[in-house]
Amino acid sequence: TRTFWVGGNWKMNGSVASIKDLATTFNAGKTPADVEVVIGAPYVYIPLLTDTLRKDWAVAGENCYVHATGAYTGEISPEMLADVGAKWVILGHSERRHILNESSEFTAQKVVKALAAGLKVALCVGELLEEREAGTTQVIVNTQLDAVVSAVSESDWANIVIAYEPVWAIGTGKVASPEQAQEVHAAIREYLKAAVSPKVAEETRIAYGGSVGGKNCKELAQKPDVDGFLVGGASLKPEFLDIVHATQ
Ligand code: 13P
Repeated sequence: TRTFWVGGNWKMNGSVASIKDLATTFNAGKTPADVEVVIGAPYVYIPLLTDTLRKDWAVAGENCYVHATGAYTGEISPEMLADVGAKWVILGHSERRHILNESSEFTAQKVVKALAAGLKVALCVGELLEEREAGTTQVIVNTQLDAVVSAVSESDWANIVIAYEPVWAIGTGKVASPEQAQEVHAAIREYLKAAVSPKVAEETRIAYGGSVGGKNCKELAQKPDVDGFLVGGASLKPEFLDIVHATQ
């Protein structure tokens, strides 16, 4: 059985004061023993978060570069994230693919380097509205996954969670229906079975992201191939604790 995984993605939000407040709130909440919780924070706040956040939750970077050190002004390496206590990194988020124009190949290189630095990876994939309307959702998602499948080895998948995040559902309040999420998650599992192995397909967690909140999470969590969530807006609120309890 796959341990339920709930990630928060704070994106470019927060301040020293608000993060201290939120950590206090989260630290006071109960977490089910069988749920893994990870919070992604802006680089500069990661040391503050690793210091203040409860130790049964992990901290993630929201991106990283593909070299350990060197003349790459403004970039942050996966080794640096690990050095300040991050255990995870979110890679391939739609905002990086579509606002920063990062390719699936570049994303796959980051996955390889992050894993080599000892980080676990939340790998985001997902289609645009026009791609869904054109019926190409699965082609798009599989192409995004292909780049990673070609770059990593079978055993690496033990350290990767896939986050299916339809772009039309991100920050829009327009959550995918449980049936829509289940359909794509099941297809991703089929893809993994063929492209990697039946074992990896069975064991890899596939989280859903896109307008997840305290009210819609329980129904989504009941779907057999929804193994967790990646939460944006609601992860900046006490409501995140309700999402952590989605399976309870
Ligand atoms: P929202 O939950 O704000 O829609 O964001 C989802 C997301 O992008 C998580 O990575």
